[in-house]
Amino acid sequence: MLRSESLRVDEIRKDFPILQREVHGKRLVYLDNAATTQRPKAVIDATVEYYSQHNANPHRGVHQLSLEATEAFEGARSKVASFINASTEETIFTRGATESLNLVRYGWGNSHVKTGDLIVLTMMEHHSNIVPWQLLAKQTGARIEFVGLTKEGKLDEDHFERLMGQSPSIVAFTHCSNVLGTINDAARLSARAKRAGAITVVDGAQSVPHMPTDVRAMGCDFLAFSGHKMLGPTGIGILYGRRAILEEMEPFQSGGDMIKQVHTTGATWNDLPYKFEAGTQDSAGAVGLGAAVDYLNSIGMKRVRDHEMALTAYALEQMSKFPGITVYGPMNAKDKGGVVSFNMGDIHPHDMASLLDEEGVAIRSGHHCAQPLMELLDVPAMSRASFYIYNSFDDIDALMQALSKARNVFCL
Ligand code: PLP
Repeated sequence: MLRSESLRVDEIRKDFPILQREVHGKRLVYLDNAATTQRPKAVIDATVEYYSQHNANPHRGVHQLSLEATEAFEGARSKVASFINASTEETIFTRGATESLNLVRYGWGNSHVKTGDLIVLTMMEHHSNIVPWQLLAKQTGARIEFVGLTKEGKLDEDHFERLMGQSPSIVAFTHCSNVLGTINDAARLSARAKRAGAITVVDGAQSVPHMPTDVRAMGCDFLAFSGHKMLGPTGIGILYGRRAILEEMEPFQSGGDMIKQVHTTGATWNDLPYKFEAGTQDSAGAVGLGAAVDYLNSIGMKRVRDHEMALTAYALEQMSKFPGITVYGPMNAKDKGGVVSFNMGDIHPHDMASLLDEEGVAIRSGHHCAQPLMELLDVPAMSRASFYIYNSFDDIDALMQALSKARNVFCL
């Protein structure tokens, strides 16, 4: 196939200090982007600049530094909000996708879900989008149904439709699977779930970093994602929530900044989004995330998606020619994010990842926080290569060479 990169990967790589280093004397080929991405210098510099020049507690003071810190923090919120076509009131800072999903579980779930209610999830969810709902179901007496998958690793649409017929109260699904790479049609699924009377919770941890996102077009009630999977710092993430729902929702955590007034007899809540941001926030993390959004915008999210699609198509083609490799999930790059999970013969994925590491190739191995999916596919673990803007066709060639070496070592 044509190896045409739609991005200037050589130029992009220069922006990432960590990609200049070697691992075990080899060029670092970083293919663990679904776990966390690397940070460009612009993001590192933005957090250093914030701490060196503007640091104070946002919203708390009238002195110059506090005003500058507030401006930097709120400026970052505006950048993230327009990145997903949301308003700033609907863009809540959290610690990451996991905390965002827990916020919905507590804020909406506690006061709306009743005994016998149905929560619909899918068999391709990350534990972060399973366990909060299991705890909610345990607490309220609700029940959970998981939408099954087709042989190709896509959602079983008939099953989804049957479950919508049972009027669920919550439908929570991933936009892009962190294991199979499957991209779900979030707009269509959200529209159907809403017609069934449910609120829709979309896990965008693996989609927002990799493709254009428009929450209005998606029509979901909530969208959760993490900064560290999109070039930003760890410990910062976002929950988008539709304003009308956020207005009527109870706070998640409570304390400073989320209140309007506190008396000995009770308290009233701050306006959106602050009602959901209790305590001192990770303002440096937010500023870093704002810089990450600037960096991604300077490339363009459509180009990011096109680049990853080209890499994924190439990786799928190479792997399907490679004897003994089983690839999981859709085999058409159009249906898939930049995630390729695989197993080779009986080689345990941890052994595979260690062997590849010796060649400088970083991949993830394990159950990928998706044990129900592993059980469904009847495998204990998988290896996973996942791509981002600084990966090239050469990186995939390096992966394939390392896989050939592994095959020889294990005498397959
Ligand atoms: N959802 C998906 C699909 C993920 O891949 C991940 C992380 O791998 C998460 C949620 C949780 O993200 P975080 O650990 O950043 O909260």
